[in-house]
Amino acid sequence: MYSRYTFDYPYPVAISVNAPVGGMEYPMICWQRPRPEKDGTYSKRTKYGLISVIIHEVGHNWFPMIVNSDERQWMWMDEGLNSFLQFLTEQEWEADYPSRIMPERMGGLLSYLKSPNKMPIMTGADSLQSTGYNAYTKPTLALNILRESVLGREQFDYAFKQYARRWMFKSPTPTDFFRTMEDASGQDLDWFWRGWFYGIEHTDISIENVHHYKMDSRDPYKDKTAKKDKRAAEPDRLFQKLNKPLPKRVDAFPELKDFYNEFDELDVTDKDGASYEKLIKGLSEKEKAMLKSKGQFYVVDLKNLGGLVMPVVLKVTYEDKSTEEIRLPAQIWRRNPESISKMIVADKKITRIEVDPHRETADVDIENNYFPRRMREHTFGISKSKKPSGNNPLRDKQKAEEKARKEAEEKKKKEAEKEENKKPAPKKK
Ligand SMILES: [Zn+2]
Repeated sequence: MYSRYTFDYPYPVAISVNAPVGGMEYPMICWQRPRPEKDGTYSKRTKYGLISVIIHEVGHNWFPMIVNSDERQWMWMDEGLNSFLQFLTEQEWEADYPSRIMPERMGGLLSYLKSPNKMPIMTGADSLQSTGYNAYTKPTLALNILRESVLGREQFDYAFKQYARRWMFKSPTPTDFFRTMEDASGQDLDWFWRGWFYGIEHTDISIENVHHYKMDSRDPYKDKTAKKDKRAAEPDRLFQKLNKPLPKRVDAFPELKDFYNEFDELDVTDKDGASYEKLIKGLSEKEKAMLKSKGQFYVVDLKNLGGLVMPVVLKVTYEDKSTEEIRLPAQIWRRNPESISKMIVADKKITRIEVDPHRETADVDIENNYFPRRMREHTFGISKSKKPSGNNPLRDKQKAEEKARKEAEEKKKKEAEKEENKKPAPKKK
């Protein structure tokens, strides 16, 4: 796995020891815990914890044993790159492997990313705080986003391999990594390194508004009727209508009424008709066709609340329930990194738009990703006692089986005794 993304393993052995301490890595040998219980059972946490640590510590043979970055200076260069390859390896172990950066498991990382007390990944190892996030999971997340959502797997994997090969048995610094990834992928990634490695901002893109535009037919008969329908559908908002209507003076003295009491400005007049005829006459065939178009125009206003510049993935749902995905590169923010508007031209009506439907950009607040918004769901409850510690269902199962087996044995024994008693007592000779 690691070799596929880098270079062939050049050492003769890779020994992994299931030790009570660890994980700790050395060239060609490493130590991993946890160990199973003495009875041979183990929890799910132990199982996946151990598999992950073995992948991780053996993986250190590549970074930093061979690609020999200075771990005392830049912790992410070995831990981060190694954790990233560990993630790829875990995902090839089995479907839904519980990796630490899976969307359903990275709540802690997302909370860290949006908290005010954080420092950039590019902080010297001596000063680095929250190393679990800054040296391991955040670089893993960033590189996975670079691979899946920015460069694409083919380009990323080629560039990453170039880095590993160029710098094997050498001592690269962060800029060697950044430069090689840009050089080999042919992409300007300065904005990405700045955001994810030098910056402390997070992803939080919100849909602020969606505007719907339709072509005005300019036909007074159609337009004024539509406006009348709209007016009729409006709720009675005049506050006086809430109370008993007061007698009106014009009812008592009808002579006070004039033309404007009858006139409705939404009635089509002869003048309207004439000016419409004139307008149509002056239009080209193309313009006439445009007037008849059923096109729907939408403008989606997006706000970058988190500050981090990221690609924008929009999932659009139409009134016939069909959906479409629109992927916009991060460059869409280049003129205004705080807010942008994107026009969508459709031939049917849009009912819903969602940002980042696959949760691929580590957006810290997904509730503002929906237009229209959905209700925020919460739960609360009563708790009296703490959960029993130690979650080892494998042992529980074995214990239950053991108990059932003993009970069955007991039953058998009793039945055998019963049978024995039923037998007529041996006759005395
Ligand atoms: Zn490590």
